[in-house]
Amino acid sequence: MRAGARCFTHDRGRVTAAKVRGMMKAMHTTAELTRARDLVAGATRIVAMTGAGISTESGIPDFRGPNGVWTNNPAAQRMFTLQSYVSDPEVRVQSWQLRSRHAAWSAEPNPAHHALVELERDGRLAAIITQNIDRLHQRAGSDPGLVIELHGTMFETVCLSCADRREMRETLDRVEAGEADPACLDCGGILKSATISFGQALNADVLQRGRDAARSCDLMLVAGSSLTVHPAAGLVGQAADAGADVLVCNASATPYDDLAAAVLREPLSEMLPALL
Ligand SMILES: [Zn+2]
Repeated sequence: MRAGARCFTHDRGRVTAAKVRGMMKAMHTTAELTRARDLVAGATRIVAMTGAGISTESGIPDFRGPNGVWTNNPAAQRMFTLQSYVSDPEVRVQSWQLRSRHAAWSAEPNPAHHALVELERDGRLAAIITQNIDRLHQRAGSDPGLVIELHGTMFETVCLSCADRREMRETLDRVEAGEADPACLDCGGILKSATISFGQALNADVLQRGRDAARSCDLMLVAGSSLTVHPAAGLVGQAADAGADVLVCNASATPYDDLAAAVLREPLSEMLPALL
């Protein structure tokens, strides 16, 4: 054997600190995944709580992540504040442009969305409480009646004066035809996407549905939420208080990891299918 080859073999066999760390991480992940699979297998009434992390794997940028909209451009947060939107026509003009170009128009559901559809077909998914506004759960095939859109939907507009609701597409057609800030066709009021902005309360009925679902599940499956935005995050605590197990699947640590029965950090499009 040539010296070079022997050296290569020797190096491959060396146990480095990095390799040990890698092996320990793999063993930890395997044990945690087994625990998570057992939780899912033993549950009969699962409620999923989904956040931006499940949509980033479909190419929709999040807000607070490393490449988030607000991380890259903190000034953009102003566009998502109700007071700025109502008082500044320029904010509205920019918002219509953003809506028109939103990644959700062309995004496709990913295997994590489809895994939740599988759980539903299995008869064990009671609800999906989502912080997302992109309708990817419904497009993946989840029953729209089970999807609780805590932060609303970007696929409809609402008039801030008369509450008239319409398809977003209809209003974006007016934008593309030259109306920079289209007004309500019924009353002339300010139109906005039917999403919850900063400074705007959640829809009370929708929030109540979320609470009811959280309090009546036996497993709260968190998928892609850093659980920092309330009241959405608080529903996880309410589920735990009511006796549910909590399973957290999120790329970064959450304030609820300590009370979770299992925590997974790997990409959701791999982890959620692996849980079934
Ligand atoms: Zn109106």
